[in-house]
Amino acid sequence: MRFISNGCSRRQFLKTTGAAGLGLLASSAAAGFLSAQETPLVPTRPFGKTGTNVAILSMGGMFDIPNNQLMLRQAVKWGVTYWDTANSYEGGNSELGIGKYFAKYPEDRKAIFLVTKSTAWTIKGMTEHLNLSLERMRTDQIDLFFVHAIRSISTMDKEMQRWGERAKAEGKIRFFGFSTHSNMEECLLGAAPLGWIDGIMMTYNYRLMHTDKMRRAVDACARAGIGLTAMKTQGGGQVLTSNPEELKLAGRFVQSGFTEGQARLKAVWENPQIASICSQMPSMALLSQNTAAAVNKTRLSSLDREALSRYAQASSAGYCAGCTRICESAITEPVPVGRVMRYLMYCRNYGNRDFARSRFQSLPAQTRAVMAQVDYSAAEQRCPQRMPIGRLMREAASELA
Ligand code: SF4
Repeated sequence: MRFISNGCSRRQFLKTTGAAGLGLLASSAAAGFLSAQETPLVPTRPFGKTGTNVAILSMGGMFDIPNNQLMLRQAVKWGVTYWDTANSYEGGNSELGIGKYFAKYPEDRKAIFLVTKSTAWTIKGMTEHLNLSLERMRTDQIDLFFVHAIRSISTMDKEMQRWGERAKAEGKIRFFGFSTHSNMEECLLGAAPLGWIDGIMMTYNYRLMHTDKMRRAVDACARAGIGLTAMKTQGGGQVLTSNPEELKLAGRFVQSGFTEGQARLKAVWENPQIASICSQMPSMALLSQNTAAAVNKTRLSSLDREALSRYAQASSAGYCAGCTRICESAITEPVPVGRVMRYLMYCRNYGNRDFARSRFQSLPAQTRAVMAQVDYSAAEQRCPQRMPIGRLMREAASELA
């Protein structure tokens, strides 16, 4: 039983998190809402057919973990026991920070569902990354290992399947799968019939989850017993950092007892096919706020859902939906438009400029050199979100260089 005490009522939730107003909510939650005695642990859900239950809130490890060990300690106390990192996060410091934690609290290792990822996409590179991850995190086994950021299911070929099976046989991983921010629906639909994908983490949020294609993709994976973790659930616009609609939306949810950020999490949790939400939580305030949303049982009202839907429509031109096959096939140079859009999001919406710039620097020099000169007009015409791709690529070339 993961509950220390009963869950909070909507009234309690509003009183403790909403009353201070949007700007103060995060800090009030951190200071007062989640006390040790009264806090129910974050609930769990089955992760596909793996036989393992995972916390519905996952700690995304894209922050300076070595110097923020208290975050991990508090996450365990609140039941945020699904930790997600990657070989590349913070130049390896994310995994090293988790290793530092396990060295100090080895008894916590068995409580954690530990996930890491590799972008190597080659057998040799993946093997090196896996061994390094085990070493850095001072553990014998990774619970779930992802081939990171695939753009097509063709990456998960027979060779990759054999690699995963060998890593499992050696006891180095328990489960195997992939993460994807691009062409998510196609990747999920392609994964469902394979029979050897245990888990997927994909971009999934209130903007995308109601499209026919995404519904079909998620249904197919759920039927196949693939565990699903949603990421990028805030659906943050890569272009707009604020607009009047956003402010209106924020006001609406504060009246309902949520922040708009908590409402966006709740919208995703309302689909039981999603086992967990991975959220970057680089501050105690955000961990507290997200945990508050996870333990609160109040469902969104139909008016809440309508408000989200209206906002999604009003701001769609600021959101890159990751359908990179559409825009990238319409330009003459191999510019990874979707990746660059994501790096802009890291910089503008997450405020993680250093990480965004380091990711941008990992693009080939030739790509960075030509990016601002490419003609994107055909891509812009095809883009279903009507993104001003040319302008954004030029801005990225100067802002992230
Ligand atoms: S820029 Fe447009 S077409 Fe390209 S991935 Fe984003 S939404 Fe899709």
